[in-house]
Amino acid sequence: MSQQVNPFIQADGTKPSCMQMLQIILDEQASADQKEYFKFHMAKCLPCFKSYNIDATIKELLKSKCCAGEAPHDLIEVIKQKINQQLSL
Ligand SMILES: [Zn+2]
Repeated sequence: MSQQVNPFIQADGTKPSCMQMLQIILDEQASADQKEYFKFHMAKCLPCFKSYNIDATIKELLKSKCCAGEAPHDLIEVIKQKINQQLSL
């Protein structure tokens, strides 16, 4: 497999963790390169795959439950933290 440059690596060479990459993706702050890279990464990384899908599911669920459309940000953060805790066990 050819070596792919990780577009998430910061200017100072810091390699981000899975959680940091996920956060960028889920906050919709990722560039096209980052999204592409993460798609491949997710295919090989079960925790990322799970978190990504859980988050998408939560957002869908909240959207369908809340008529206002936007889910309360605090609630999303609390749920994310719970998921993160479970994944790191
Ligand atoms: Zn990962």
